Amino acid sequence: MALGARPDGVRRHNRSALLRRLHTLGPGSRTELAAELGLNRSTIKALVDGLTEAGLVTERAVAPDGTAGRPSLLVSPRPESLCVLAVDVAVERITVAVVGFGGRILVGRHRRAQRGDTEPGAVVDLVAAVAGALSLGGLRPAEAAVSVPGIVRGADGLVHEAPNLRWSEVPIGARLGAALGLPVAVGNDADLGALAEHRRGVARGVGDVVYLSADVGVGGGVITGGLPLRGSTGHVGEVGHMVLRPGGRLCYCGCRGCWETEVGEQALARALGLPSDASRRRLVTELRAIAEGEDTDRRLGEYANWLGVGVVNLVNLLAPELVVLGGLLAELPPDLVTNVESRARDRSLVGRAAARSVRIRPAQLGGQASLLGAAELAFERVIAAG
Ligand SMILES: [Zn+2]
Repeated sequence: MALGARPDGVRRHNRSALLRRLHTLGPGSRTELAAELGLNRSTIKALVDGLTEAGLVTERAVAPDGTAGRPSLLVSPRPESLCVLAVDVAVERITVAVVGFGGRILVGRHRRAQRGDTEPGAVVDLVAAVAGALSLGGLRPAEAAVSVPGIVRGADGLVHEAPNLRWSEVPIGARLGAALGLPVAVGNDADLGALAEHRRGVARGVGDVVYLSADVGVGGGVITGGLPLRGSTGHVGEVGHMVLRPGGRLCYCGCRGCWETEVGEQALARALGLPSDASRRRLVTELRAIAEGEDTDRRLGEYANWLGVGVVNLVNLLAPELVVLGGLLAELPPDLVTNVESRARDRSLVGRAAARSVRIRPAQLGGQASLLGAAELAFERVIAAG
């Protein structure tokens, strides 16, 4: 115990650490949990007994390796006992889900939205209606969090700007909180995608990660030393607006030649010879057809070039071990990704210095990354409260 620490403070700290361990990594034996958390046997027993009594975990005996021997007690989180409401507001789709202790989606619903028709009041009403329907099963979320494709002030959930939703200075955290009767945290979609892939996806266990996601816009989330990079204002990762092609296409942000204008959804549609408003489904179908054929270079060579230019810059700047491609980028043909990876290794000073070890991989959580990241944001607050 630290000098001056109050016993109940220590107990709460240990309880939060145990909840976090079970939520993130799943079941473990008492022995494993004690070793991982640096606690002695009697402390872990008291903590587990407390969680069992509160209905948060179950314990069952399992024989080691299925052989005879002294069974150990496996402590497992009970998903329905502690849950949060996660919301993903995307340009064409709004998703609401209840996510349980342990990170699994217990129940969820999608609603399609018309592009440019996601007025904040309508979004609040829709989320409240869907959340009400989801809670009929007796699930009682403790907190909520929402993912938004925009610049978010984390402290109070104000969305400064979400151009693709046409939102400006929208206090979505406060408005949703009032409608749901729950505390609501708000995060940027790419930051939350990075968080989810780091906790539960392809970037699990990797300390330095750049998550790139292209939908209508292009965003990025950065994990450095295992922690999200926040910057002085909480707004980092607007990688879509790195100017890579001076004199290029005009971007809505006011600059010309932003990376987004070369690798965003519209740029991909252009590269594929599809109309600029082609649906996501059509883009994905076309990308999968290309992946099965052999003309990736011919059809997407220039697109790959611009993707590579941006990735080389990011590798030089941030030296990630892993670049995760999310959103539409997760659907790019594997040989295109391999080419971009080779370029990131060979053409960046950092890539060469790091023995050409930087890897580029598609996201593992697919379209659910931002939603699951929102759930993690909400769980962080629940777990910290013990
Ligand atoms: Zn821009």
